[in-house]
Amino acid sequence: MYDALVMGGGVIGLTIARRLSQAGLKIAIFEANSTIGLETSFRNSAVVHAGIYYPPGSLKAKLCVKGKHLLEDYCARQGIPYQQIGKLIVAAASVQVPDLERMLAQAKENGGQDLRILSQTELAAREPAIKGVAALYSPRTGIIDGQAFIKSLLQALPSNYVLTGTKINQCQVDSYSFSVHSECQQIFNSRILINAAGLGAVAIAKKMEGLPNEYIPTLYYAKGNYFKYGRPSPFKHLIYPLPEKAGLGIHATLDLNGNLRFGPDVEWVEDIDYKTNLERKTDFLKAISEYFPEIKAQDLIPDDQHTGIRPKILPADKQPQDFIISTSEDHGIKGLVNLFGIESPGLTSALAIADYVVDYCAI
Ligand SMILES: Cc1cc2nc3c(=O)[nH]c(=O)nc-3n(C[C@H](O)[C@H](O)[C@H](O)COP(=O)(O)OP(=O)(O)OC[C@H]3O[C@@H](n4cnc5c(N)ncnc54)[C@H](O)[C@@H]3O)c2cc1C
Repeated sequence: MYDALVMGGGVIGLTIARRLSQAGLKIAIFEANSTIGLETSFRNSAVVHAGIYYPPGSLKAKLCVKGKHLLEDYCARQGIPYQQIGKLIVAAASVQVPDLERMLAQAKENGGQDLRILSQTELAAREPAIKGVAALYSPRTGIIDGQAFIKSLLQALPSNYVLTGTKINQCQVDSYSFSVHSECQQIFNSRILINAAGLGAVAIAKKMEGLPNEYIPTLYYAKGNYFKYGRPSPFKHLIYPLPEKAGLGIHATLDLNGNLRFGPDVEWVEDIDYKTNLERKTDFLKAISEYFPEIKAQDLIPDDQHTGIRPKILPADKQPQDFIISTSEDHGIKGLVNLFGIESPGLTSALAIADYVVDYCAI
């Protein structure tokens, strides 16, 4: 008998497992792949967000801002590469400036720090290659070595707690205990069950005998394609256009080695396929040229390594969505937590999500 079982070896499952293990619980964490992190957790922009986009009071707003502070502290203590390089959200025309002001007010309400609007001259001084009439400047937005962070979470766990190559395909939910069945017929029992299976979370929830359907959302896939920039970066900051409904707009992000990539876009798909869709290149060129007119088709190189899939729990016309962290307060089953729709800013929020879940479990 275990104290807690965690399904999913991505950043969310691992941060939760770390907290449970620190509390002295006997746990097992199940990961279907042969190693941790290979799905959404390793396929993202690795931006540490400052809480700009999310409605005040939403889980995204609260957990992003708290998670950012926890993550920065964690990186400093554990020696994980992290840099606060700053971000610019660029208004292409003066009609977009009120949107920047709205985002500034919202970010401040969420606890974002040191944000301000830059004039056209100030923008040009910071980023001469960028075309725009103004920008919202977030100096505290950062970039992290996401893989180093996730690997450090794994290293902090006793190795016998982490069961890779173990796909869960059935769970039984009784009043005070859970039993989980792996694909190869192993059975595990516990009093706490955490479903942090990312793109697999809805499928697992559907296999939880005893969990009513009304607590299981519908899953939609929104692919985020990326293209690398084949030249040295002309930018020093992260450059974003105004956000769209289901994503942040095709933006320019840097990694810690100074490499520039564009994306992710939003492509609603039926299947999980991490190959960059080459047909999106024309749309990328159009979107990027709004703020970076010098972009050329031959400079965009497909980036299959970063292309990822967002686990959406609302359809395209109902975006944006919040995280769902479904506990007994919703479904009435003590000890069961289902995490659904943990898209961006999930990496930034991960340590705060873990605190939230573990506090709920009253450990
Ligand atoms: C394109 C893109 C860009 C993003 N950019 C950022 C960003 O810049 N900053 C930021 O903060 N966030 C970003 N995010 C969000 C962030 O990457 C995610 O929120 C985070 O990685 C989610 O982690 P997870 O652990 O929930 O999911 P995952 O990493 O997908 O982990 C879930 C794990 O569960 C396993 N699993 C599934 N089913 C089963 C099963 N039946 N049995 C056992 N194991 C199972 C999977 O194999 C997987 O490893 C981005 C996301 C995308 C898609």
